[in-house]
Amino acid sequence: MKSAGRSVLPVIAALLLALPAEAYYFQGYYVPMVLVSPMRDDVIYTPVGLGIVSSKAGFRIHPVTGKGDFHSGVDLAARLNDKVYNLLPGLVTRVGWRGNLGVAVEIYCPYPNVRIICGHLNAYSVQPGMWVQRGRVIGYAGSTGRSTGVHVHYTVIRHDTNQYIEPMAFLLQVPKYMTALRTSQAQQAIAHKVEEFKKAPPKPEPKDSDKDDLPSKTPESAPPDAGEIPL
Ligand SMILES: [Zn+2]
Repeated sequence: MKSAGRSVLPVIAALLLALPAEAYYFQGYYVPMVLVSPMRDDVIYTPVGLGIVSSKAGFRIHPVTGKGDFHSGVDLAARLNDKVYNLLPGLVTRVGWRGNLGVAVEIYCPYPNVRIICGHLNAYSVQPGMWVQRGRVIGYAGSTGRSTGVHVHYTVIRHDTNQYIEPMAFLLQVPKYMTALRTSQAQQAIAHKVEEFKKAPPKPEPKDSDKDDLPSKTPESAPPDAGEIPL
């Protein structure tokens, strides 16, 4: 009996040690399929699943390190390979490994001038430079990077001030942004902002850098009002 117990325990210990390491080093894969779901402009959607929050943005005890830290976005509950949707028209600016965030997709939305990052993806279906509409599937949920289980990390950053915006408050505003976007004035302003962005893109980080490359903690900002961002 004793000898059986001695041989089983190291095996269990080895399995437990192996699991997080594998999850951490898996670098995701590219899905070239273009999937777009028609989304109504006036409905509040979430980027993945039902929008169930498993960890809020702001200060918290980190589930992996056990230490207090600043959580730059909201964690949304998801199942492996659940579709992750883009909710506002924008330009894909960065795709790939991003340190603690694992496999991440970043999108610049000229209106209301924010950058949106979805992290811990299992797969991605966009490439930098692509223009993505509302309803486009940009990736699939996973557990890459520093993560304890499948979920999607969703961060929203004001592009002009680099301030974090509370992501759930932001999602509530999206239908208002979509209304503002319908005007031709808005369409022209967007074209102009995309040109400006291309001239001065954020400095790129090597694709498999271990840094998550996010702005340092700044005072949080409320989501911009649909009239506040100058067109
Ligand atoms: Zn998170």
